[in-house]
Amino acid sequence: MKLFIVYTGFKLTREWQELEQRQFSAVKRIVVKIGSSSLIYPTGRPNLAQMESLVRQLADLHNQGKEMLLVTSGAIGVGLNRLGYARRPKTIPEKQAAAAVGQGILIHIYEKFFAEYNVPVGQVLLTREDFADRKRFLNARNTMYTLLRIGVLPIINENDTVAVEEIKLGDNDNLAAQVGGLVDADLLIMLSDIDGFYEGDPSAGPARLIPEVKEITPQLEQIAAGTKNKLGTGGMITKLQAARIAMHSGIIMVLASAAEKDVVRRVVSGEPLGTVFWPSERLENKKRWIAYSSTVHGKIYVDEGAAAALLYKGKSLLPSGVVQVEGDFEIGNTVSIHGPDGNEIARGITNFSAAEVNAIKGAKTKEIERLLGHKGYEEVVHRNNMVLNI
Ligand code: GLU
Repeated sequence: MKLFIVYTGFKLTREWQELEQRQFSAVKRIVVKIGSSSLIYPTGRPNLAQMESLVRQLADLHNQGKEMLLVTSGAIGVGLNRLGYARRPKTIPEKQAAAAVGQGILIHIYEKFFAEYNVPVGQVLLTREDFADRKRFLNARNTMYTLLRIGVLPIINENDTVAVEEIKLGDNDNLAAQVGGLVDADLLIMLSDIDGFYEGDPSAGPARLIPEVKEITPQLEQIAAGTKNKLGTGGMITKLQAARIAMHSGIIMVLASAAEKDVVRRVVSGEPLGTVFWPSERLENKKRWIAYSSTVHGKIYVDEGAAAALLYKGKSLLPSGVVQVEGDFEIGNTVSIHGPDGNEIARGITNFSAAEVNAIKGAKTKEIERLLGHKGYEEVVHRNNMVLNI
């Protein structure tokens, strides 16, 4: 069952109000992400107790009829340990090699624990490209839906062995949010070595845990910028980036401590643990893909009039409002649209190549045909293929 997360502008719907009090009983599809620092001891070896407890909770929720997906880190860390590395190597091929070794070990452990509870698991390894290419995105989605339909619990990680810098998502917080969007999850639980989002650095002295977030403010971003975690790639910055994706995708995100006893089960039962990030909207799947999964191939700078037309009047981007073009994009690529102050105001799919937009920038729509020799479209980016305020 889907949750109705409808913000009417004045009054929140009843179902939303129930969710505000963390009545998660309607939550059906749940992505749980666990980070490296919660899976690996400071000795570098896998934390089997943590993994076993996580598996038991996921298996139990699976048995209750919830659709569970696990996004796990730890491949590189576990691989490095098996190979006897004292510290994390700098080169990408070495990390990729470690991931090849570690991913096998990780899945072996999960498979063994889940088998004890009779839950079949399936390994899914993804890269940025699998999300960025619309066809591959839809293929991945079909596979995930099939796995869930036949009762398999997908265990997902980045395909680190093939993911070089350009095609890497880079961190599993982002991966988990993208997976949430891919499968239209209701709830995303981020398990980490910290029990929520704090107003300061809890290791530096008393700091207040923020129980709920409804909007990612510059102040929150500033707090996040001051944190960094040692074992994984994330820290709070990537948690906030993930939260932003979740909040625009209609997914509730809860950030909580992996070490808290029975944390997944308790979060799902509505216990106010950690920090909850409430969704502000549910962008339709295609717009979500444009905003967070597709690759941005270039930039289009627009004048003040066009920026206001996009932001406040629900208009498409016309050639007349374009001031400058950056990058070498083709028809059908995603471009980011920037206002006169340089800030990104929207993202969308372009109907013209970079060279063509350059040729028609500032021109009236009726001049397109004369300038290009063909008309094709009136809009550079149509409203229906555009997302504001990413
Ligand atoms: N994919 C990496 C791994 O499994 C982890 C990335 C992260 O920690 O966010 O080792």
